[in-house]
Amino acid sequence: MTAAAERVLLDSVPTGLYIAGEWTGSSSGATLEVTDPSTGEALARIADATPDDARRALDAAVDAQEAWAATAPRVRGEILRKAFELVRERAEDFALLMTLEMGKPLAEARGEVAYGNEFLRWFSEEAVRITGRYGTNPEGTGRMVVSQRPVGPSYLITPWNFPLAMATRKIAPALAAGCTVVVKPAALTPLTTLLLASVLEEAGVPAGVVNVITTSRSGAVSEPIISDPRLRKLSFTGSTEVGRALIKQAADGVLRVSMELGGNAPFLVFEDADLDKAVEGALMAKFRNIGQACTAANRFIVHASVADEFARRVTERVTAMRVGRGTEDGVTIGPLIDDRAVATSLALVDDAVAKGATLATGGKALEGAGSFVEPTVLTGVQPGSEILTTEIFGPVLAIATFETEEEAIALANATEYGLVSYAFTQDLARGHRLIDRLDTGMMGLNAGVVSNAAAPFGGVKQSGIGREGGLEGIHEYLSTKYTLIPAD
Ligand code: NAD
Repeated sequence: MTAAAERVLLDSVPTGLYIAGEWTGSSSGATLEVTDPSTGEALARIADATPDDARRALDAAVDAQEAWAATAPRVRGEILRKAFELVRERAEDFALLMTLEMGKPLAEARGEVAYGNEFLRWFSEEAVRITGRYGTNPEGTGRMVVSQRPVGPSYLITPWNFPLAMATRKIAPALAAGCTVVVKPAALTPLTTLLLASVLEEAGVPAGVVNVITTSRSGAVSEPIISDPRLRKLSFTGSTEVGRALIKQAADGVLRVSMELGGNAPFLVFEDADLDKAVEGALMAKFRNIGQACTAANRFIVHASVADEFARRVTERVTAMRVGRGTEDGVTIGPLIDDRAVATSLALVDDAVAKGATLATGGKALEGAGSFVEPTVLTGVQPGSEILTTEIFGPVLAIATFETEEEAIALANATEYGLVSYAFTQDLARGHRLIDRLDTGMMGLNAGVVSNAAAPFGGVKQSGIGREGGLEGIHEYLSTKYTLIPAD
């Protein structure tokens, strides 16, 4: 990839706010800089919205709501389908843009384009499958009609780690359901959402149905939207800490919320596991997105009888991983999102080592430009180490051991999070017991990646509320209405 090609792509990305079908600057004239985490260099300057801009964006969504809800589901579906085709045509642009602003290796960015785009296709199909019920009441005195209506104008807040997929996973079901939206991407990686907005416009999304605001002051700019009684829904993906604060804010307006929050996924390897598959699964579950995924395996809980062999095999593979800018051939580990993320990961490693873990490989930041951390393996992680209770969000694979199935399940569930769990075993009966007993919204049984647009994605406990994708995803944007029609 040449620097000139990168420049051409960057110059094609809109830099304004997208409100009521128009690209505009911030009302204050302020801009914010987007940088490449692999070099620290500026990529673009984009509009930095004010609270007034946020109000304007909500005004536009409110104005467009009635007509969009009245638009035939087939028409809504076909616009989403057209958007799917356009993203597929521009797949390379989206992939490169994500690599530039977020840092993930290009091959992974291509994977995210395919995954993220599936939400546009899936919900283009779901738009026409919104159904209800009709029946006689138990007394026989009337008919009961149950129908689904769009919940109304929705505010969608997305994180930086999956810039395309987190946007499409919210925008597509909202539009399919007949809701208009204001989208606020993370300030660290807003360019992908801006490019997506231009594609949605080209696909025929009417003015005001999708509005995008970018800002360096998320709290101050979100407040007027969340406190506005015309808003009907808040959907957030991000950290549990911010999610908790937003739930409190949403309580004032008794706003419907969907929360996709943090994780602390256990990855269990039993003594009867196929170790080859467990190692492959572990590398996917840990190092995809440079460890910066809510679904990233955080704690490897391995039976003591296979722990040394498992550690030896993963260490061999991890040592061979190539670290570098995501655009370079063969790179599988890009930079972390910023230097703060580097410090957090390394502090967790240091704490684990101080408490008795052994550093099998890695454990340092790379010298020079960019926020790089060596891919790291820790073995013999001891109870009480912070790495077992904190979301790592970096390329650090931490191994602890267990002796019995009971102990493994107790360790896996000993967290306030409950997003996803992974378990490797060839014992079918044990697999069924684990499905019943692991307290997570999702599970990979002999699988290191579970995400699929056709599956309900979401967590239990403090990992969130609601589901995105699958048959469930559209219901986050629908409300149920019951009507009684007396028989006479
Ligand atoms: P974050 O919570 O810092 O930010 C998420 C988004 O919220 C960003 O757009 C940010 O600008 C915005 N935000 C921050 N403070 C806000 C406020 N006071 N009011 C309104 N908006 C505010 O999270 P992050 O660092 O961007 O993302 C990483 C986190 O996201 C991790 O915890 C990860 O597990 C989680 N995540 C969860 C899922 C999931 O589906 N469960 C998916 C991806 C990421």
